[in-house]
Amino acid sequence: MKPTYTKEERQAYMREETRKAMESVLEMVRSGQVGDAIAHHLMDVSPDAPCREWSPTNRMLLYLNKTADARGYRQWAEVGRHVAKGAKAFHIFVPRFVRVEKADTETGEEKEEQKLIGFMLAPVFRYEDTEGEPLPEYQAGPVPDFAEAATAWNIAIEYGPSTQGEYGFFSVKGREVIHLSSQDPDTLWHELGHAAHKRLLASQGKSMKPGQDVEQEIVAEWVAATIGRIVGRPTGETAWAVRYMEAYAGSQERLLGSLAGLAAVAEDCVLLIMDAAASVATIAQTA
Ligand SMILES: [Zn+2]
Repeated sequence: MKPTYTKEERQAYMREETRKAMESVLEMVRSGQVGDAIAHHLMDVSPDAPCREWSPTNRMLLYLNKTADARGYRQWAEVGRHVAKGAKAFHIFVPRFVRVEKADTETGEEKEEQKLIGFMLAPVFRYEDTEGEPLPEYQAGPVPDFAEAATAWNIAIEYGPSTQGEYGFFSVKGREVIHLSSQDPDTLWHELGHAAHKRLLASQGKSMKPGQDVEQEIVAEWVAATIGRIVGRPTGETAWAVRYMEAYAGSQERLLGSLAGLAAVAEDCVLLIMDAAASVATIAQTA
């Protein structure tokens, strides 16, 4: 017999699942695995998989559930696979929108808009827990020499002593310069992260904040951790992100949203660096 639940029991269950999902993503930030999750998404997830389009938070849940493809029951059926007996779902966040009428501030005209009112949980199953038709095989492309992005962007790399105890910095006065006091590639990737972030912001008509801005540092940190993971180095630094979490006064949901947004920016930065590095490799090959 199928068990029946009251509405309250069901709501309590969903609240508990939501709390668990949020906690696990925040734990990932604390333990420095965000770079791993971004690298996983960029290198292991097939472009055909629906999870390519998932939000950063859901992608972290994908990584935590140790799979490169997860779909809903019906989505699996569409590709000729079915969920194995006894397999357990994990849950991802799906945004809920409502249509609202809103007056245009300039013309006063009534317009229909989509407003985000919250999230609900949707169950998805791992590829490993399904059976049926095979999926097309996917193999990621070659890994570029990330440092070549500096060449592509005409950034000078200088080595020299540290002036304030830092390992490196990215300077944009006149010619762009990455100054390094460390031979550790993490430092170079971190500074390349700032250089990529500057370009990403410029493409949106925005600019970098001067000095050490917490969010900019988190992005650069996650870029370095992601590249490190792609080239097979252990999990990188997370100091800034952890401090950010401690200092955050808002709700856990807002913190999660904010960190997920930064993860998306870090991923875009890694993609910019990969493209720039690959462009140098292409020129070298054809020259
Ligand atoms: Zn930095």
